[in-house]
Amino acid sequence: MQWFKPLGSSLKIERLANAVKDSLWQANCPLCKRPADGILCKDCDRQITAYQAREFLQKDNPISLEIPLYSWGIYDGALKRAIAACKYENHPEIMEAIAVKIADTWQRSAHTKTKNLQKASVIPIPLHANKLKSRGFNQAEILARRFCDLTTMPLKPQLLQRVKETKAQMQTNSKQEREQNLSHAFAVPSNQKSNHRNVILFDDIYTTGVTIREAIATLSDSNIAVRGVIVLARPQFTNN
Ligand SMILES: [Zn+2]
Repeated sequence: MQWFKPLGSSLKIERLANAVKDSLWQANCPLCKRPADGILCKDCDRQITAYQAREFLQKDNPISLEIPLYSWGIYDGALKRAIAACKYENHPEIMEAIAVKIADTWQRSAHTKTKNLQKASVIPIPLHANKLKSRGFNQAEILARRFCDLTTMPLKPQLLQRVKETKAQMQTNSKQEREQNLSHAFAVPSNQKSNHRNVILFDDIYTTGVTIREAIATLSDSNIAVRGVIVLARPQFTNN
């Protein structure tokens, strides 16, 4: 039984190596810092899912009757904290995890099967180059990219640029100031102008809709038709 001993010790070494590998590769949950099997731990994932909106298609049509708004969640509680942790504590991987939920909801929804939507390209709302540099990533683009991977829809971030540095909309005091702040914030690059097509805009949060409206107007000037808008979350609205 000469062979038994070396085999036994090599198995032990293998197990030890796996344990070391697991502890090196298993990143903790970015929200609670506890060990997680996926990006998020099961507990945080559950807490986020608790803020999934009852209706994906927003029945109050806040943009217009022609342009549907889809919001996966309600901007509150664990979902609001997860978005803040992504943006301000440098955890873009949180958006990767949540994009899977949005893609799943999109694919299950009965309201997303129209030809205009199914054939559309997806444009994430861009950040200004300076903002992108300081944050290091655009959370809307991370969401949209993963969403497109999963739904096989084409991602076209190059169709829209943010050409004006704007204040955070929360720092503006009036509707007029918000509109002024975003006015001419976007542009379609001249080499993209001949591409007439249907698009869907993608953003992380929908609040007043001023950003989305400005982007729609800019794209429309270049004959690019926005057929729908998908966001991760919007504050709760009452539809009665
Ligand atoms: Zn967690």
